[in-house]
Amino acid sequence: MSVTSSLNPYSAKEIKVYKNHTKSQVEEIIEKADKRFYNWRETSFAERRKLMLAAAQELKTNAKEYAETMTLEMGKPISQAIAEVEKCAWVCEYYAENAEKQLQPEIVKTDAHKSYVSYEPLGVVLAVMPWNYPYWQVFRFAAPALMAGNIGILKHASNVFGCALNIEKIFKKAGFPEHCFSTLLIGSDAVEGVIQNKKVKAVTLTGSGPAGSSVASIAGKNIKKSVLELGGSNALVVLADCDVDKTIDICVQARFQNTGQSCIAGKRLLIDEKIAESFLEKMLIKVRELKSGDPMDKATYIGPMARKDLAMDIEKQVNASIKSGAKLEIGGKRQGAYFEPTVLSNVTKDMTVFEEETFGPVLSVTTFKNIEEAIELSNNSKFGLGVSIFTKDIKEAEKLASRFDEGAVFINDLVKSDPRLPFGGVKQSGYGRELSEHGIREFLNRKTIYIKK
Ligand code: NAP
Repeated sequence: MSVTSSLNPYSAKEIKVYKNHTKSQVEEIIEKADKRFYNWRETSFAERRKLMLAAAQELKTNAKEYAETMTLEMGKPISQAIAEVEKCAWVCEYYAENAEKQLQPEIVKTDAHKSYVSYEPLGVVLAVMPWNYPYWQVFRFAAPALMAGNIGILKHASNVFGCALNIEKIFKKAGFPEHCFSTLLIGSDAVEGVIQNKKVKAVTLTGSGPAGSSVASIAGKNIKKSVLELGGSNALVVLADCDVDKTIDICVQARFQNTGQSCIAGKRLLIDEKIAESFLEKMLIKVRELKSGDPMDKATYIGPMARKDLAMDIEKQVNASIKSGAKLEIGGKRQGAYFEPTVLSNVTKDMTVFEEETFGPVLSVTTFKNIEEAIELSNNSKFGLGVSIFTKDIKEAEKLASRFDEGAVFINDLVKSDPRLPFGGVKQSGYGRELSEHGIREFLNRKTIYIKK
């Protein structure tokens, strides 16, 4: 029988061993999910709203308990873990209150007596999800999917099966009917079989490029809709006229929160050479102040990375860049799964930390001479998730926004997800959108209704 062992990255001790679902168990779960769909889609928005609000309440009431599982399994500092659980309650509340309005039929005037677009659910949707925001990534899929009348099945990352089971429990405790949302305890090698299953109608994946490419090609072969939320290497573009102190605080948060393991983290600091030296000097003071330690301690800001092999990957990227001429300003050392908050300066676009996504607490610093060079450097990435621009000239920044090849441009703030705004990327960062009314419409049949008298 195949099993999945869950390791605490801070203590390196085993937390639990999970028995993986067998092929026939997976088929049974999908079968039950599909059966549930045919009465779930008949429920009213009012009924779904009541259940989704109960899920939000459950998340808020037991935020600490759910956060602790996350901290044990992937090392997120507990204060940030609690904030993540609370954000999940927000997305549940947002869709509970807005789904009905967002999915109203749209009347279109034609030569018919009446014609309109009716937004209808597709059925069972598979979500393949990553460990870095193990609740948030799932809830931002599940809340709109369930409110739209779809059914969710989750294949979560193998190091966060405890969180995956908690999410199933949250929906059950909220009163959702059995099989509205189910967790599959399977490895990535079993995903193909799930997508091929005729009862599974679509798939969404949040994760790395190779995983996305594999899942999307299987979905394509089976003519099923897919949404991909993949990696990012966001630039933090700092112009000479910015508010330096505020910008430093935001940049440090953008890069180092969640121990740097975020798709939308600001990974490449691009700064006007006129202010680079003094800005960097001040910023290093702030980076030195970040408290590393036991992720269960409320005061900890930097925990271990989620797995030791991931910390080893970051170490390799840092060392390769130093070898090519980057200057180590701070950090650079690894101990087990822990990697010190690190800043590299003199980074050029041919270096590993500039070319590849750095999924850990490492900031690269590159200077530019003028805004044209800043835009060229920012766009010089295979990814296109988001960019932050820091300046007091908001009008000018807004004008420049269209020249950035990104899914999002944030002016004077870090790129962040918000239930009210669409979230997603271009280029190798994926396609499709989550959140807002754009997200809820991804897994729907936009049915044309045409009536002639
Ligand atoms: P990952 O290795 O791609 O894993 C993500 C999920 O995909 C896991 O459930 C994993 O299962 C599964 N998976 C991996 N390879 C697969 C395959 N060939 N076929 C089917 N499923 C497969 O990514 P990660 O290391 O967990 O997460 C980090 C990456 O996710 C980064 O690149 C990050 O930028 C990206 N990310 C993007 C967003 C976004 O919204 N754009 C958000 C968060 C993270 P196993 O765990 O069992 O391998």
